[in-house]
Amino acid sequence: MQFTFVTLFSNLIECYFQDSILKRAMDKDIFHVDYFNPRDFSKSKHMKVDDTAVGGGAGMVMNPQPLYDALKALKQQDKNVYIIFLTPVAKPFKQNDAKRLAKKTHIAFVSGRYEGIDERVMETFGDELFSIGDYILTGGELASLVICDAISRNLEGVLGNSESLDIESFESSLLEAPSFSKPKSYEKSSVPSEYLKGNHSKIRSLKLALSECKTKFFRPEQLLKHRIRKSYEK
Ligand code: SAM
Repeated sequence: MQFTFVTLFSNLIECYFQDSILKRAMDKDIFHVDYFNPRDFSKSKHMKVDDTAVGGGAGMVMNPQPLYDALKALKQQDKNVYIIFLTPVAKPFKQNDAKRLAKKTHIAFVSGRYEGIDERVMETFGDELFSIGDYILTGGELASLVICDAISRNLEGVLGNSESLDIESFESSLLEAPSFSKPKSYEKSSVPSEYLKGNHSKIRSLKLALSECKTKFFRPEQLLKHRIRKSYEK
């Protein structure tokens, strides 16, 4: 798998791959990362990448030419590259998207800066557009990393134990049950006693009940969906 970050600030992204799980995955050649800087494609005298907004409005907009040429070059390199633009107005990125996109061979993430990207570039090159939430960041780099990280965990060999993927929150309609590590008792607080008795069927039932409680508390609408789905399965 190949990830290409199209960004004016690759140094904001590079450090994320220098440690931990994703570094190990890159060392094992499970995926590769490269960078395209639109500024390198600018034809203006001072390598400009932004301009004032046509029709007025505050702030600068990333102008089409540098990005257009960068993305054209990227597509010439690999005609199968799947291009994702990050923008706060798009649909929210979800776990199902992470699983679906893990089947691609090459994904490029295009990060905006300033007041955003000229709409025509997104219309011409965007295979898909995502937001990571209803708030405004200074740029798309963090959003690209969030999505890249979530996709990477679904690539075979990235996680030591791929079973952990199946029981995570958002895999089924219930959130994952609470997790505990050793020691059994810490600062006057203990793990649920059933977890300690070794009866796996009872532990499973307790985890399911706790999952339901957690989902009811944090995501009541999700619990409702889960119950409706279960009633259809009967
Ligand atoms: N003026 C734009 C608006 O109001 O929709 C916001 C532009 S934002 C300051 C600059 C860039 O950050 C965007 O082009 C986008 O790439 C990125 N960005 C900001 N918030 C984001 C979010 N919630 N999800 C994804 N990308 C985001």
